[in-house]
Amino acid sequence: MARPKHRPPLPAGPFLVVGLARSGQAAARLLAARGEGVIGVDAGSPEGAEGLRQVGVEVNLDGDGSDLVGRVRCVVKSPGVPGSAPAIAAARERGLPVLGELELAWRLLSNRFVAVTGTNGKTTVSELLGHVWRTTGEPVAVAGNVGTPLASLVGQVPAEATIVCEASSFQLEDAEAFAPECGVLLNVAADHLDRHGSLAEYLAAKLKIFARQATDDVCVYNGSEPALRGLDLGGCGRRVAFCREPGASEDCQAVVERGLLELWGEPLLETDELGLIGPHNAENAAAAAAAAGAMGIGREAIADGLRDFAGVPHRLERVAELGGVLYVNDSKATNVAAAKAALRSFDGGVHAILGGSLKGGGFADLAAAVAEGCVACYLIGDAAPELERDLASAWAAGVEHRRCDGLAAAVAAASEAAEPGEVVLLAPACASFDSYRDFEARGEHFRELVEGLR
Ligand code: ADP
Repeated sequence: MARPKHRPPLPAGPFLVVGLARSGQAAARLLAARGEGVIGVDAGSPEGAEGLRQVGVEVNLDGDGSDLVGRVRCVVKSPGVPGSAPAIAAARERGLPVLGELELAWRLLSNRFVAVTGTNGKTTVSELLGHVWRTTGEPVAVAGNVGTPLASLVGQVPAEATIVCEASSFQLEDAEAFAPECGVLLNVAADHLDRHGSLAEYLAAKLKIFARQATDDVCVYNGSEPALRGLDLGGCGRRVAFCREPGASEDCQAVVERGLLELWGEPLLETDELGLIGPHNAENAAAAAAAAGAMGIGREAIADGLRDFAGVPHRLERVAELGGVLYVNDSKATNVAAAKAALRSFDGGVHAILGGSLKGGGFADLAAAVAEGCVACYLIGDAAPELERDLASAWAAGVEHRRCDGLAAAVAAASEAAEPGEVVLLAPACASFDSYRDFEARGEHFRELVEGLR
């Protein structure tokens, strides 16, 4: 195995950690444990932030932190904090280094990294890769956007473990030297434009996954993604593509075609052997196979891992079958591309619950999938008026729709209308923040409502 890649040392402290939710707290704890002076600030008061005082962190809540920048020599930015936040702007103005939590943690971990980015499928593919590694018996840790902050792994994982790390655009935008041995870019669709401003900036953040790779690293990308066609992916990593059709890219090593997943030109498995449903998940499996294969995992272990991976909660999760109606929780479908993929995972007959809070970008792109796949839509939350307007062509094509006052009303209406053989699908195409803490809380509420139908 190659020697660990060189990491630049951390800048000198003291440090200001901006944003004290999960990742920020982990970063602050990590720095404090290294004996650094740490000040933390958050515009609100996230759960657990107060607890940092016990490890010697100076905690400032309900403030923007711009007044604290003069007391430190380096700023650590949590992924949830935009680059325009006052403390970040103030740090840049003073010429202080600003490190993202991902960059900070990577510099302090000597492990091999497989990093996964893309608009949709990051968690699924990260967990899938973790599962494939576990199937081989090799040590692995899965972290990143998925609940376990990367910073919390420092000092906790053996040096020989591979770290599979889900890297969102918010984490990558502050990457500097970060250079994973394997970077995976799954897809690029409009999302988070409220934060990144334009699709070009969003794509630029994602491409940072490859930017610092060396020639012995691997750059795995979606060879069928129109947004990547003809684009310089950056860095020097060896190009490996996964594709929806053979010949989509000269780098193609994994292809999903007519129900078959091929790796290195030979059949690996049939897509209906996969534990996951939907064509997008077959593509996710191809991405995982390409990445695992490029990192030296054998075909059999890859196939076994892909076969018995049961999926991740809130991503096309089968909740129950009641009276012949299947209830599916895809609360994580927080954007149009994910909701579209969810609708296309069924052969029609879908009663879709759509809506939540708006992120910018509109819903017109969803109309064709709604027209093809849905019997009816139940519109909830702040986005309901915009959905009603943007999906007009689907209504004109005969899809029923009605506005509902919240998820409970939508589940009740959908369950009453759905016939045996049909599907009630929560795939909101929206964030959840108008009514819920996060998409998990929304998905759990959906599960409870479905349980209540028994
Ligand atoms: P992420 O971590 O990138 O948000 P997840 O694995 O949590 O990705 O899935 C997010 C949503 O996107 C879910 O609704 C899931 O069903 C859907 N999804 C997963 N993979 C893909 C894909 N390759 N293309 C489109 N949608 C996808």
